[in-house]
Amino acid sequence: MERDRGLDRRALAAFAGTFGGRVVLPSDPEYDQARVVWNAIFDRYPACIAQCASVPDVIAALRFAREQELTIAVRGGGHSAAGFSTCNGGMVLDLRPIQAVSVDTGAGTARVGAGAHLSQLDEATQAARLACPVGVIGHTGVAGLTLGGGMGRLQRKYGLTIDSLLDVELVTADGRVVRADEKENAELFWGLRGAGANFGIVTSFRFRLHPVGPAVVQGVMVYPLERARELAALFRDLVAAAPDELMMSLEFRIATQYPPYSPGMAGRPVVLIEVTYCGLLERSERYVRPLKAAGPMLDTVQPRSYLAVQTRKDEMLTWGHRFYMKNAFFSRITDEIVDLCATRLCDAPGTCAVGFMAQGGAIARVDEDATAFTGRDAAFWCAVETVWDEPTRDGAHIEWGRGTMAALKPFTSRGHYVNDVIEAGQDVVRSIYGDEKYRRLVALKQAWDPGNVFRLNHNILPVQAS
Ligand SMILES: Cc1cc2nc3c(=O)[nH]c(=O)nc-3n(C[C@H](O)[C@H](O)[C@H](O)COP(=O)(O)OP(=O)(O)OC[C@H]3O[C@@H](n4cnc5c(N)ncnc54)[C@H](O)[C@@H]3O)c2cc1C
Repeated sequence: MERDRGLDRRALAAFAGTFGGRVVLPSDPEYDQARVVWNAIFDRYPACIAQCASVPDVIAALRFAREQELTIAVRGGGHSAAGFSTCNGGMVLDLRPIQAVSVDTGAGTARVGAGAHLSQLDEATQAARLACPVGVIGHTGVAGLTLGGGMGRLQRKYGLTIDSLLDVELVTADGRVVRADEKENAELFWGLRGAGANFGIVTSFRFRLHPVGPAVVQGVMVYPLERARELAALFRDLVAAAPDELMMSLEFRIATQYPPYSPGMAGRPVVLIEVTYCGLLERSERYVRPLKAAGPMLDTVQPRSYLAVQTRKDEMLTWGHRFYMKNAFFSRITDEIVDLCATRLCDAPGTCAVGFMAQGGAIARVDEDATAFTGRDAAFWCAVETVWDEPTRDGAHIEWGRGTMAALKPFTSRGHYVNDVIEAGQDVVRSIYGDEKYRRLVALKQAWDPGNVFRLNHNILPVQAS
């Protein structure tokens, strides 16, 4: 750990003197708060945190970090499960102060600062009954989520977040400000949509918005784990017949002490089916009826404001816990897979889950090669997740996560969702994108960041690894 890496004091003073944001150093009282990221495993000590308030600040911070040969960690919302938005001894280039969201209701678009989190985008757009499809936890950063893809409750109706991305403004490794969209720097725009942390610092995003809400039908049905096969079959049937407006996920999990579970359920292995219906409310009943008829122990499905839905799980996955996950895509959920999940859950060391989110709909209508994101053609995306608090239990939880995905691996299809990959290395990165897209990304990296300035990410090397 390089807690007090010596910075050139004169250069630092010159940089801080012109910087419009705040430079936080280890000696500052706010340092310990400023260095925290969402996943408590990554307790790191940067030499300096540059809290940028504007695009010129980003350029100045980048120039200073490069001159001082500091490792650069770019931070949007700080939720990288792999801890990429912090480092020991380098510079955290923190974009959180750049968080303005401006909605153009006439054009049906929103311009979003790179430090905004999802709730800010949702709140600004819902004021006009519009929404951009984003993730399911309000405190996640728009930037990191978008640059990796962006999955969520509206994905079958409106696609991934990147499918609504119109353009970005970014600062390049050599300090230029460029724009990328389908026409201008189109190849860069392709790579930014799935491998976006690699090519520059995005300072703002412009999204297409869609009519949503203000109410949707949403909630969960919870059943005993002993009925896993029967519920998985019902889930499969409902997904197969679902309209795009219906988003569903199936989870095998250990119930927590947080809502929607009652205190008596905490620690119990359960099957959970979550539904979100974003069409005409009165039409939802037919899709929800079979799940209700299956006799859940707990049923929270009802009309709610879309805004309330989007923050319902915020407390359950709040900042400061330790977290590990693995993910993969699946073309089907067979009984064998269900049995495997149930068995693994019975050996869980604590709060653990294996969840399957339905894809299809708008996601599948975009060509697999249209963006760097890989895995659109799969029917389901699967996440193996575990959360705990005591550092002494790291081994047990991480081992459970790895063991569970290792058992599921024979059933997976191509690709991984980059935003939820924790392990690093070139083999891992190739497995995320596949060899063909990886080659294309290497060429892009050579063009935009040949010195690999932006390397705290699932790193595309600017040279082809043998
Ligand atoms: C609680 C929780 C819930 C989640 N839910 C969802 C979900 O529903 N759907 C989903 O798709 N994903 C979800 N994710 C995964 C999430 O998309 C990723 O963790 C994402 O990277 C978070 O973005 P961030 O800006 O908060 O993270 P950060 O840690 O700030 O950044 C993540 C990566 O992006 C880079 N980066 C950040 N900002 C920029 C920028 N402006 N320019 C260039 N690079 C940048 C960072 O350097 C880092 O490599 C969730 C994660 C968590 C922890």
